[in-house]
Amino acid sequence: MKLNLPSPVQEVHNPHYLEKGVRVFVKRDDLIHPLISGNKWRKLKFILSKAQREAKNHLVTFGGAYSNHLLACAAAANYNGLPCTGIVRGEDVKNEILYKCTALGMKLIFVDRESYRYKHRIFEDLFGKDDQAYFIDEGGASEQAVEGCEEIVNELVSTFDHILCAAGTGSTAAGILAAIKKQKLSTRLQVIPVLKDGDFLKQAIEKYTAPDASFELHQNYHFGGYAKYNDQLLDFIIDYYKQHHILLDQVYTAKLVFGLDDLIRSDFFKPGEQLLWIHTGGKTGLLGIREKLTAKAPEFRQILEEIL
Ligand SMILES: *Cc1c(COP(=O)(O)O)cnc(C)c1O
Repeated sequence: MKLNLPSPVQEVHNPHYLEKGVRVFVKRDDLIHPLISGNKWRKLKFILSKAQREAKNHLVTFGGAYSNHLLACAAAANYNGLPCTGIVRGEDVKNEILYKCTALGMKLIFVDRESYRYKHRIFEDLFGKDDQAYFIDEGGASEQAVEGCEEIVNELVSTFDHILCAAGTGSTAAGILAAIKKQKLSTRLQVIPVLKDGDFLKQAIEKYTAPDASFELHQNYHFGGYAKYNDQLLDFIIDYYKQHHILLDQVYTAKLVFGLDDLIRSDFFKPGEQLLWIHTGGKTGLLGIREKLTAKAPEFRQILEEIL
């Protein structure tokens, strides 16, 4: 499996940044692999080695119908020649992502939303007798995932005043923070929750690091909740691509960068500071909004064609 690591860091140029005296860089984890995108590779790396150490060859994991994690798992299992089962939340649906998962050899099982909440029970019921089966939580959330995300910081060759990332489960943020602490950097972490009521993330992140570790949650950029978006966010994605040739997704990275730009505009950062945002990948999410996006920007048709 060919992985583009360490992922490149590049500067993002924008007259507004210049005006505020800040420099903005992006770490392109979205370029690590076309299917195992961004932080999903970071999170799977040590999960896969733990499964291997324990001689578990059948990966079993969980996700929604547009889950970046399911696709990443399917691709990683395929490359490693491992059988893989994906438990999908909700009614039996078909879409490009799930089709790709199946094509990569993942067996899909659909589970209603109520039962889905009890993942360990589902795993026990279906695979309790399969001693090859290895439970991987939704989104890969685990200690190993946090450890893998520490490498985002460990790969950096210069230091930044602030690192910014989007948060769903908070594992990525926790890994970044753990590495900042271990290296005793003065870098501060700014976290943009992509869901409503992101308060739980404070504990989720602190669970894996020290309670005194310094980071801030910015809770105004969730656009109504997980996977919710509006025209403003779609326009932002379109404009950003036109300006920088960097593709953002509506679930995670567009909310992060929208938040970053807003924080810069409102003088959250001091002149002279250097900022790094993490492009955690996720462009396959755009396939879920193909119609809306191409209605606004027909040139996206070609871009979306090339995603899978
Ligand atoms: C899964 C995902 C995240 C969220 O990462 P957490 O570690 O769960 O906070 C962020 N960005 C993208 C593109 C993702 O696919």
